[in-house]
Amino acid sequence: MTLLDTVSSVLLVHAHPDDETITTGALAAELVSRGIRVWLLTATRGERGEVVPGPLTALEGTDALTREREIELDRAANALGLTERYWLGEDPARAPGLPPRRYRDSGMTWIRPGLAGPASDVDAAALVRAAPADTAADLIALLSHLNPSLVISYDNGGGYGHPDHVRMHEVAVAATNFTGTPFAEIVADPGEADEWFALDRHLNTVTAALSCHASQLTVDGAHIVHSGGQREPITMSMGLHRR
Ligand SMILES: [Zn+2]
Repeated sequence: MTLLDTVSSVLLVHAHPDDETITTGALAAELVSRGIRVWLLTATRGERGEVVPGPLTALEGTDALTREREIELDRAANALGLTERYWLGEDPARAPGLPPRRYRDSGMTWIRPGLAGPASDVDAAALVRAAPADTAADLIALLSHLNPSLVISYDNGGGYGHPDHVRMHEVAVAATNFTGTPFAEIVADPGEADEWFALDRHLNTVTAALSCHASQLTVDGAHIVHSGGQREPITMSMGLHRR
């Protein structure tokens, strides 16, 4: 029996708009094609991210960029077949009795190619400044509302070290431990996977979703080109490791 055989619904837990597509786009398309109900939770609006040079450059650092990234996320989620998505800190992903809260992108710096670390300036509303227990309480509220059969999020290194990814891993572990919800992390190495997915058949879907994130990246054939010019292959294979 494989990991997904008993799963009827999945909550994907992500930090920023574009992570759902870059990290789990192919997997999301696969889950949807299997008839599994998939929900998306995004913690921040990617406010600190750079903007692809071009017509949207002027949005960098403005509230208009935040709005643009919300729209881009809507379009990308729709392209992946994810019609139900939530913001962390907003009902129903908010602890009962508390006013809505906006978690902001914490930013990052490159420690070396492929490994990110904390930004030198982190604002007070940043996700990493929030008490992990408070953030976990918001996720617990959503888990109680949706009751998914499985939660999927980053590994403990956050994929490539982004502080917001690492935090969402920790919060997902804490919240799923509290509710008893099964949790699986995304792994890039087949050796670490309980189940490995080769999903090239979903390339067109993933490419369409990536193209929705025009302020963050461009697509060049089988590669993603990030706002800073870094290239990476589109990820079409990934594993799940049940924790
Ligand atoms: Zn991210």
